[in-house]
Amino acid sequence: MAVRPSQPSRKLVIKPKANRGIKTSVHPQSTQLTDPQGRRFHYLRLSITDACNFRCSYCLPEGYLKRADAPEPLSHPEIANLIAGFAEAGFWKVRLTGGEPTVRRDLLQIIETAARTPGVREVALTTNGSRLRSLAGDFRRAGLTSLNVSVDSLDPERFTEISGQPRLAEVLEGIDAAFEAGIPSIKVNAVLLKGLNELELDRFIAWTRDTPISIRFIELMRTNRNAEYFETYSLSAGEIQLRLARAGWVARPKTEGDGPAIEYTRPGHLGRIGVIAPYSRDFCASCNRLRVSSQGGLRLCLFGEKDFSLRSLLRSPEQKDELLATLQELIGRKPDSHLLHQGIYGSTRNLADIGG
Ligand code: SAM
Ligand code: SF4
Repeated sequence: MAVRPSQPSRKLVIKPKANRGIKTSVHPQSTQLTDPQGRRFHYLRLSITDACNFRCSYCLPEGYLKRADAPEPLSHPEIANLIAGFAEAGFWKVRLTGGEPTVRRDLLQIIETAARTPGVREVALTTNGSRLRSLAGDFRRAGLTSLNVSVDSLDPERFTEISGQPRLAEVLEGIDAAFEAGIPSIKVNAVLLKGLNELELDRFIAWTRDTPISIRFIELMRTNRNAEYFETYSLSAGEIQLRLARAGWVARPKTEGDGPAIEYTRPGHLGRIGVIAPYSRDFCASCNRLRVSSQGGLRLCLFGEKDFSLRSLLRSPEQKDELLATLQELIGRKPDSHLLHQGIYGSTRNLADIGG
C-alpha cells in the first residue's frame, strides 16, 4: 500500500540531495550560453513525446489525439546528438518530459544516454506516475537523479476528476517505489486549481513532515486553448504563499543558478514546499532553461510564438559545431520576459506539446 501523506514514512534514510554514485563529469570544452540580459543557461527541458495516457482537464481534456501529418518524435540517436551538443554548451541538467515520457519504449535507453553524456550531472524526469511502480528501479539503474511526479490532488475522487484517470493509489505507490529505489531527489507537482486542490494545502503539507519530498505548487498557465478553464480555476500563488508564511514556512534565499521556483522550508519538516508563479513580476529574471519539443523545435520561451527547428542539425555527431553555433545565435533572440500580463500567451495549445 502507498505511504499516505499523513502517515509516518519509513523512508527517512533517504538523503534527497546526496549524489548516490552518479557520475558528475564536467565537459572538457563546456562553455556557458549567456543571453543579452546576462542570464546563463544550464538546464535543458526536452520533450520526448507529445503523446499521453492521461487527460488532465487543464492540459488534454479530450485526451491525446495524434495529428495525421505530425512528424515522428526525435529518435534516440537524434536525442543523443542533441544532449551532447547542449552539454557542450554548458547544459549540465537535462529534464525529460512530454506528453508522458513513459509511453516511449526506449525511455530507459534515453535516460542512460543522457546520464552518460560528458558534462551532464543531473538527469530528471517529469511523469504522471502511471508506470512508476514498475519502472522506478530501472530509472535509478539507468542513471536518473531527479524525479517529478504530478499529483494534483490527494483525494482519489478529485484526482480522477482532474486527471481523467482513477489511479491515485497507483501513482502514490509509484512514489513509494521511487524512494525505495533511492532516486536522490523526488518532487511532486500540483497545479493550483481554485475550488479544487486549494482546499488540500494542509494535506500536502502534512506529507512533508516525515518524508523528504518537495511539493511544488504551480500556477495554472493560460494557453491558447484553455481560456474558459483558466477563467474558472486560476488561482494566484500569492494566496498560498500567505498561508505558508502564516504556518511558519520560510522562503529560502535564492543562490546563483536557481530557477524561478521559490522554495520554502519549515523546522520539523523533512520535506519542502515550492511555488512556481509565472505570473509574478520577476519570474523571467532567473530563467536558466531552454525547451526543445519532441520534434526538435527550440522554444526560447514557454510562452513564445515559434519554435526554431534543430532537427536538421541532429543527424550526426559531426554536426555538433553547427548546432553550437546555432544555439549561440538563437540565444541572442531570447525575449527578456513573457508577455502574459499583456494578454499574449504564445502559440502553445497545451503544455503536452512542449513539455511544461
Ligand atoms: N505528463 C507529465 C506530467 O504530467 O507530469 C509530463 C508533462 S506535463 C505537460 C508537465 C507538467 O506541466 C505537469 O506537472 C503538469 O501538471 C503541468 N501542466 C500542464 N498544463 C499546465 C498548465 N496549463 N498550467 C500549469 N501547469 C501545467
Ligand atoms: Fe498528460 Fe501530463 Fe498533460 Fe496530464 S499534464 S494530460 S499527464 S501531459
